[in-house]
Amino acid sequence: MSSSPKVVVIGAGLGGLCSAAYLVADGFDVTLIEKSPYPGGRCSHRDRDGYIVTTGAMMVPMGPSSAIRQAFDALGLEMDMIDVTGRMRYRMPHGDYDLPPGGGGLAGMVEFAMQDPDAARVLLGHIKTALTDWLPLETITLREWFDQYTDNEGVKQLFDGYCSALMGVRTHELSAYDFFLFLKHSSKGTRFGLARKGNLSLVSDLVAGIERKGGQVRCHVGCKAIMAEGNRIKGVRVKNEAGEDEFIEADIVISNLGPDATVELCGGEQKFERSYVEKLHQDATPVPIYHVCFVMDRPLVPDFDGCMVFSNNRNLIYLEIPSLISPGEYSPEGKYVHTAYGAPENFEDANLEEELKRTIDELELNFPGFKNEAEILVKAKFSGKYPAGRRAVGRSMPVNTPIRGLYMVGDGNAERGKIGTESAASSGRLAAEQIKQRYGTARL
Ligand SMILES: Cc1cc2nc3c(=O)[nH]c(=O)nc-3n(C[C@H](O)[C@H](O)[C@H](O)COP(=O)(O)OP(=O)(O)OC[C@H]3O[C@@H](n4cnc5c(N)ncnc54)[C@H](O)[C@@H]3O)c2cc1C
Repeated sequence: MSSSPKVVVIGAGLGGLCSAAYLVADGFDVTLIEKSPYPGGRCSHRDRDGYIVTTGAMMVPMGPSSAIRQAFDALGLEMDMIDVTGRMRYRMPHGDYDLPPGGGGLAGMVEFAMQDPDAARVLLGHIKTALTDWLPLETITLREWFDQYTDNEGVKQLFDGYCSALMGVRTHELSAYDFFLFLKHSSKGTRFGLARKGNLSLVSDLVAGIERKGGQVRCHVGCKAIMAEGNRIKGVRVKNEAGEDEFIEADIVISNLGPDATVELCGGEQKFERSYVEKLHQDATPVPIYHVCFVMDRPLVPDFDGCMVFSNNRNLIYLEIPSLISPGEYSPEGKYVHTAYGAPENFEDANLEEELKRTIDELELNFPGFKNEAEILVKAKFSGKYPAGRRAVGRSMPVNTPIRGLYMVGDGNAERGKIGTESAASSGRLAAEQIKQRYGTARL
């Protein structure tokens, strides 16, 4: 092998982009291929008649420990973001709770949800223990963890909304271990925000940075097969920009397509060692989400330029008004674009059609008059090959594989304790670290 192994990254989602960023910054020879004309995957946007409409994510981590931010740092780039950390409103059946501006609002949230200061104090003691002394094991769900300490339904509803807004799953679908591990990470100075000019602009900055460091980014190039000889990667077969078949030689392939699609492109499960295949079949259901993007002549929530999380509905979980957060960028003047998300009640048994409809009905229930005033631009069910998460929190596949030189990144290959865009980016960081360890620093 040469001193600079050739890397092909398949897919320009955040997982692929971040792994490419980390590796080009270290001198690796990287080619990134993306089948669509645009980078970003589920963290991008499309312009619809002057309105910026997300292809997935809205809130993106941006603090110094974020793997997304560190990918920008590695390329010497700024992240063009509007920080909305702490600008959170939680809607409960009995009213709204705004986090205090200085942060640290967990205690306030719990007290508000429980409406019983003494009971809240006791429960907060248990939460503190789980965060500092004893991380509960994954043998029980978060719902069961709460059930052992309290009968208060308010606090269980609060965390059901919280978990579905952040992770797409409910407290009865999430292990107590994964929840508290996430909370531990997220309480350590995490910051998040909205891309000032939309996610496509953000990821295009990453593409430009990768190219400036000598990487090649080729959009409109779809991978048709990942080629391995024996147990070692040889390259990828693609349909290129001209619509022709092309073979790209590589020592290392990083796939951002998720474990199932990657295994298929490699020629099927028979190419993989048995323990890997067993894990591939375990808990493999992707997590769906419903997206409703709409426009109004006024903001639906006039006094609030943050993120609203709902714990009072069956499906509606989240609302945000990007036109208020980043004025002048997301919609024409005098118009307000809104993004709402709905989550299934049971992600493994979701009724996609009915639950999307109910998400819209619940917007009307929460904001009477909504249906009359709003023009709906998008109502979408994200599921199957285009989900909120390729695997539920805590159920991911590893980034390395039994095939030498083959790595996988993205939200199906998340590190424990990471969610959403951050999980995709941090899997890219982890893959890059493993590659540097295995193949040495390319510059040498
Ligand atoms: C509606 C919705 C809302 C969300 N909200 C949030 C949020 O607010 N905050 C948050 O942190 N997370 C959120 N998420 C989750 C987040 O968007 C994803 O976890 C993350 O973007 C996934 O990135 P990825 O790298 O795993 O994959 P993807 O973004 O799916 O990237 C995969 C890429 O591979 C490309 N590709 C596919 N096949 C091929 C091929 N054969 N050859 C070449 N390229 C190929 C695709 O075009 C795509 O660009 C949301 C998701 C959805 C759907």
